[in-house]
Amino acid sequence: MNAAAYVLVALDIPSRALSDPFTYAVPSDLVDDAVPGCTVLVDFNHRPALGYVLALGGTPDALSRRTPEEPSRAGRARRGLDLRKIKPISAVLAGPACSDLFAEISFWMSREYVAPLSECLRLFLPPGGTPRLRRRDDGSYALERPAVPEAHERVVSLTPEGQDYVPPKTATRQRQLMEALACGPVTTRELNLLYTDLSAAIRSLAKKGVVRVDERRAWRGIDDATTLSSAKGTAPRQLTKGQQAALSAIDAAAQDGCGDVVLIDGVTGSGKTEVYLSAIERVLSRGRTACVLVPEISLTAQTVGRFRSRFGQAVAVFHSRLSAGERLDQWDMVRSGVARVVVGARSALFCPLRDLGLIVIDEEHEQSYKQGSSPRYHAREVAAQMARLGGFPLVLGSATPSAEALARCRQGSHLGQRWTRVEMPERPGSAKLPDIIVADLRREFSGGGRSVFSRPLREALLDVAERREKAVLLHNRRGFAPFLMCRDCGCVPTCKHCSTALTYHERTHTLECHTCGSVYHVRPYPAAGSACPKCGSRYLAKMGMGTQQVEDALVALLPDDVKVIRMDADSTRGKDAHKQLLEEFDAAECAVLLGTQMIAKGLDFPEVTLVGVVIADYALKMPDFRAQERAYDLLEQVAGRAGRGDNPGRVIIQTYLPNDPVIQAVAKHDRALFVEHDSRQRREALYPPYVRLTNVLVWGRNEAAARSYASELARITARNLEMLPQMPSSGMSPLLMGPTSCVIERAKDNFRFHFIIKSPVGLDVSSAISSALSEVGAKPGINVSVDVDAYDMM
Ligand code: ADP
Ligand code: ZN
Ligand code: ZN
Repeated sequence: MNAAAYVLVALDIPSRALSDPFTYAVPSDLVDDAVPGCTVLVDFNHRPALGYVLALGGTPDALSRRTPEEPSRAGRARRGLDLRKIKPISAVLAGPACSDLFAEISFWMSREYVAPLSECLRLFLPPGGTPRLRRRDDGSYALERPAVPEAHERVVSLTPEGQDYVPPKTATRQRQLMEALACGPVTTRELNLLYTDLSAAIRSLAKKGVVRVDERRAWRGIDDATTLSSAKGTAPRQLTKGQQAALSAIDAAAQDGCGDVVLIDGVTGSGKTEVYLSAIERVLSRGRTACVLVPEISLTAQTVGRFRSRFGQAVAVFHSRLSAGERLDQWDMVRSGVARVVVGARSALFCPLRDLGLIVIDEEHEQSYKQGSSPRYHAREVAAQMARLGGFPLVLGSATPSAEALARCRQGSHLGQRWTRVEMPERPGSAKLPDIIVADLRREFSGGGRSVFSRPLREALLDVAERREKAVLLHNRRGFAPFLMCRDCGCVPTCKHCSTALTYHERTHTLECHTCGSVYHVRPYPAAGSACPKCGSRYLAKMGMGTQQVEDALVALLPDDVKVIRMDADSTRGKDAHKQLLEEFDAAECAVLLGTQMIAKGLDFPEVTLVGVVIADYALKMPDFRAQERAYDLLEQVAGRAGRGDNPGRVIIQTYLPNDPVIQAVAKHDRALFVEHDSRQRREALYPPYVRLTNVLVWGRNEAAARSYASELARITARNLEMLPQMPSSGMSPLLMGPTSCVIERAKDNFRFHFIIKSPVGLDVSSAISSALSEVGAKPGINVSVDVDAYDMM
């Protein structure tokens, strides 16, 4: 065969062993189609396989020069290649459908996060599952995507000749149709909503040439209409000083073209979203596109509405509540260029935007930007890499920036990329930061108070009712979900297959495992037959307090004419329930919105004058070095819901730990207090951002086999770490701790072991681990996960 060109192909086989791409030749009849990003059919070990073209070149050597990020192993293998032995690709099955950066970013992620290349590539592919190969009768292969049919809609409009047509008096339906079309084209779906069946009328008027019917592609998933007044994105007449400073920093970064990072450190309500909107306007006017990441939890109709009312049809939205069809349509809107702005959760980063000119990550500190399954990437790091490669700015925004972002801005750069912080310490107009009152629950209890609400919170709630205002009440149930505990021996029932504590569900009288889903029927005290699984005592009683209990207390406290709206996992199960509850709250004259952490973020209701936190202590004492940062962020965010309008706001935080630095920092509006305390702890105990933290997890049903595999992998990894060029300037050498049993020792009948690596920032831990993995090799029944920059270490 005469090869016209060569391509580097990633096989669609999710295996660490096949993670490296392979070189194939392109026959001359396929040379026009085999472009980077397309899907090809190749022969691999005498079997047909799907692959994705990563790079194209005139010679195999040209490929390695074109992909500097590529793992060295593949590069070495290819240099020894005998040109005659390179197999040709058999067919091009689908054209390119990815963002420009997909190949380089996939390589980078695969290396950085020690993940199979195909898993990283899949992030960029159209939604709807893995495509399959189908063998046709004639022996050839076809690509089969999971069937998600495209939606179409039919638009009815008047023809120029039809403008003056007057239907006969008796033709009621025709007259209705003419009336409906008088102001412009209408879809058949809308016509059928407005009138009962008009299809016969449409047919007969179409035959007369009065109306015409056109079919066009319908984009499912943009039907997000909301009555929320704050979902408007009208530009303010004048930007604040802080906003102007932020925009000039973004402009400077764009001019620079090096992929600089700008951190907007702005208190809640300081107008960060407005900065994003203005920055995007500028990017669009330069003919480029923009991607905005928002935590899933704040991807509400309100947030989306602000972007849609500014940029209209050009906005595609991605969140987990979309159906498969909606997701595919939104993706197609981006690919076809109809949408030039994308707003979405973490994975929106991978949608097929071309000419990307800006990435914004709102609430940059949010934990949901870290993916919990392979590839275990952090959206901030991937976005920074994209910005670097694409030479466009990355904008991060937060009222409580992560320790990582703050440290990089303090240094001014991180791994060669410039990081700049811009402060926005004030709210626009007359809106002031709320007063914060700490209610000491210890004192309340010693005074005989046994209510859910302390005296200050009780009085403030009654005040709100009297003044006909609105309040937001946070009851974070994380760590506070009801569970059963034996009052005699302190035993908390755990799952038989996992070592996690079980959550109690009152309505069904069941204990449920949130790791594996097992359900156990129980009768807690005082029911007859209640018994502790350990000591047999009958005092196995319910602990913790659910949102429903707080709701009952609220209803009992407040007059009947105050609307109480509860928002938690149970009350927001329906597709639009979340939006409907918020609209109810918006429309009410006087109301209390009670909810879990889902109400803490992003909501902008100017009439809210009181924010209460039922109990602030849940997270302060969790065995996780980020727990305090999370607690601080949550309190700061929820406090930020108060006083966004003309009336001043008040915040009341109930706690048993009034002197905790987190509570003190929130109460005094003094973040430095918290940051100092938190940084000192992290520096002393060697935690990020001062080091990089990697967690390697090994699990299997056979305890001894899992343990010995973990030991072997740890030993080789430690040796590889020592062989890396060390970084004396960091003042530390890499540390490997373990392996030990995980905090959750067992999950789904698997025994879990892990080891942790603390390494200087900039050291290539990933390569030490991936070469250890290939040296030790895969073992049947043993699973390994590598989590670079780990968040969850349980
Ligand atoms: P953040 O994203 O920082 O929480 P927002 O962008 O939601 O803040 O702004 C808070 C409120 O202030 C919104 O109601 C917004 O419309 C308003 N706002 C923002 N910028 C300005 C400005 N320059 N002048 C007046 N109002 C503004
Ligand atoms: Zn379980
Ligand atoms: Zn007991």
